Amino acid sequence: MSAVKFTDVHKRFGGVVAVSGLSLDIADGEFMVLVGPSGSGKTTALRMLAGLESVTEGEVRIGERVVNRIAPGERDIAMVFQDYALYPQMTVFQNLAFGLKRRKTPKPEIERRVKAAAVSLDIERYLERKPGQLSGGQAQRVALGRALVREPQVFLMDEPLSNLDAKLRTRTRGEIKRLQQEVNTTTVYVTHDQVEAMTMGDRIAVMNNGVLEQVGTPEELYEHPANVFVGGFIGSPPMSFFNASTGAEGGGTRLRSGAIDVLVPGLDGLPAEVTVGVRPECAQPWDPQAGLVGPVAGEVAWVEALGRETFVGVNVDGGAGGEPTQVVVHHGGRATLLPGDPLEFGLAPRSLRYFDAA
Ligand code: ATP
Repeated sequence: MSAVKFTDVHKRFGGVVAVSGLSLDIADGEFMVLVGPSGSGKTTALRMLAGLESVTEGEVRIGERVVNRIAPGERDIAMVFQDYALYPQMTVFQNLAFGLKRRKTPKPEIERRVKAAAVSLDIERYLERKPGQLSGGQAQRVALGRALVREPQVFLMDEPLSNLDAKLRTRTRGEIKRLQQEVNTTTVYVTHDQVEAMTMGDRIAVMNNGVLEQVGTPEELYEHPANVFVGGFIGSPPMSFFNASTGAEGGGTRLRSGAIDVLVPGLDGLPAEVTVGVRPECAQPWDPQAGLVGPVAGEVAWVEALGRETFVGVNVDGGAGGEPTQVVVHHGGRATLLPGDPLEFGLAPRSLRYFDAA
């Protein structure tokens, strides 16, 4: 059994609250990503699980054991850091074997495990090199290999890809995911990168200001963000928001916010004031045949052309004294739009999300 459980865990550094009331169940074999902006407490949570940081209050369990007072070396975890932390004077083989040797693992067993990890990670031909003779990507694979050979109950990874360039990061992301599925070891992975979280996690825990905002599968977080923070953090480009007043009308609800005035059929039960969340793919250039609500007239603020698709930031008049609202509109294919151009768009009614302004 290697489930992990945080129960009402708090961490304070003097007056600074780094983690506040964290309760999180991570299933045996699950790949859990802790994601959040800088300073949200994810590293601190991971370090408490590793035993590198004490727990101020609450309980951390690995399997059946409460580990609050168990030394890091006794927790049966293996950690992979951002900076690899390889021993520079040792060869790759020795780096991989080091932890096993210290645990007095028999030599043939060490050779077997190192060989298997080296094959898995495609680093066999570097076994006699020193870390200084490796590229960043190779060094990171060695760091992963070192965790793998330990065959621990839990892998802990703290931003392991952040020193790699974009292309290598994408590749290594896939490799880590594949390896984890192969060995099926419970993994807790910290990142500030929501794309990494979305592509790697079985589930994702979103943290902000030391608080767990939501935990769920990538799809749940994307489709049903619990609040404005999660909606804005998950997804790229992020969800757009506008505050609207609502009014029941003909079996639907009218949403009004400055120049936005749309009737959403079949929608009811909203409070008088809501924050409306719009995913970019739910806002499209106006087409009366497309089943959208609208049109909404605005002015192009920016254009991000990605080749096969284009995202357009559109400023919509906020009404008397109000700031303009910016909605990101998805334009299939190339758009010949420029900042300052007028643009009418519509919203896909079933994809809108509503948050209680309170
Ligand atoms: P990052 O992505 O920047 O590492 P994070 O989400 O991992 O951020 P933590 O490193 O866990 O956040 O930090 C959470 C909060 O705790 C921050 O406000 C940070 O300044 C504070 N903190 C972390 N470690 C310490 C420490 N040793 N002493 C005092 N404050 C700390």
